[in-house]
Amino acid sequence: MSRPEKILKYCPKCGSSKFIFEGVRSFLCADCNFHYFINASAAVAALIENEQGELLLTVRALAPNKGMLDLPGGFVDPLEKVEDAIARELKEELNLDIISLSYLTSFPNEYIFSGFSVFTTDIAFVCKVKGWDKMHIQDDISDIVFVNRENIKWDNIAYNSIKNIIKTYWQKDSNQPI
Ligand SMILES: [Zn+2]
Repeated sequence: MSRPEKILKYCPKCGSSKFIFEGVRSFLCADCNFHYFINASAAVAALIENEQGELLLTVRALAPNKGMLDLPGGFVDPLEKVEDAIARELKEELNLDIISLSYLTSFPNEYIFSGFSVFTTDIAFVCKVKGWDKMHIQDDISDIVFVNRENIKWDNIAYNSIKNIIKTYWQKDSNQPI
């Protein structure tokens, strides 16, 4: 199991083994009273269409879920705005510059990394970019694909939160369930 209560055995402040899981989302050290909370980490995802109305997906270059499809994006840094995080991630992963963005929706995710559950709130923005000519695939992605409602392979999408974001996006201008 990758859940924090199965992995975290010692107080990160004093090293005591009396690091007690209080249930749901917090630990309390019986020796030094350090109170540690498991909160959701903010993460951002971008919905970007090309001129044909197809949606850009990235291919993950690294574990977890190497080779599976994802939306561009990533974790929000400490003390960073989510708007800045999505601009930074698009620059880092694809060398794309955002000219506009609008909030769409959010979904929770459990992202297992190093055998440890990181709970995220995946925050989705509809983005427009300056152009494609300088796009460069780099960082933690190995390729991109453009998909539409007819040819998307839902089983190849790495996370349910990302599937739900895409479905929400496509349902916005359609009365048909995806
Ligand atoms: Zn302690």
